[in-house]
Amino acid sequence: MKISYEDLVRLITQEVVTQLGGAGGVGSNGHGSARLTPGSPTTPFGAEASAQQPSPEQIAQEGFPCNISARHGHLTPEHVEQLFGPGQRLTPFKFLYQEGQFASEQLVQIVGPRGSISNVRILGPERSKSQFEVSRTDALSLGMMPPILQSVNHGTGSPITIVGPQGSIHLPDALIRAKRHVHLHPDEASLLGVKDGDEIPVEIPAGDQGLVFYNVLIRTDPAFKAEMHIDTDEGNAAGVQPGAKALVLSPRAGICRICK
Ligand SMILES: [Zn+2]
Repeated sequence: MKISYEDLVRLITQEVVTQLGGAGGVGSNGHGSARLTPGSPTTPFGAEASAQQPSPEQIAQEGFPCNISARHGHLTPEHVEQLFGPGQRLTPFKFLYQEGQFASEQLVQIVGPRGSISNVRILGPERSKSQFEVSRTDALSLGMMPPILQSVNHGTGSPITIVGPQGSIHLPDALIRAKRHVHLHPDEASLLGVKDGDEIPVEIPAGDQGLVFYNVLIRTDPAFKAEMHIDTDEGNAAGVQPGAKALVLSPRAGICRICK
């Protein structure tokens, strides 16, 4: 039997991703870690096939993936070149659950007044504003307490210095703690009775440490798939493991145990 080069690459990629347990190196729990089961269809880097996406009805009744966003950064194309060298672009290491988003191969060090953190992964593709997202624990080790803000170009964060292999930059307002949030397709949102910008309670029913997070921001976009993103502090508090589910507590969907 002759194996094509493409098949060989696919088999090796699948094996490597399986050995990594689907974890790419954004800590042990990347921004939307891909779940991989033996024999499941994969694209390179183990992105989950969209066919496995639960239906809006399943999302309302059974929940949807809850994934931990480990500390990470977003960079403009100009900042990528300043940190990694002229002509450099972000290169995918692993594609994430949200379409088109990837953990890149690029790593930097972030430096605050009290300490630094190495091997902070950059997520791609490049954005129009550079931003770094850390947990409260990370922020304390840096000697900072940045504001809680929505990821994606909203608001003014704290100053942070970024060190790459080819240069360093000081960003006066780029460090934030990302506000916990749920990505939803508009169809999923309407079934749950929520809309973009709402802040609602969401239950993580997992195991002994399961809990309800309040003030979870709803973000909708036709490109989104239902997924909750919390930081490492929040994920550890709730005992979140790969495959964890989130449930929007919605009276309209008839699944709220705490709503009046
Ligand atoms: Zn997110």
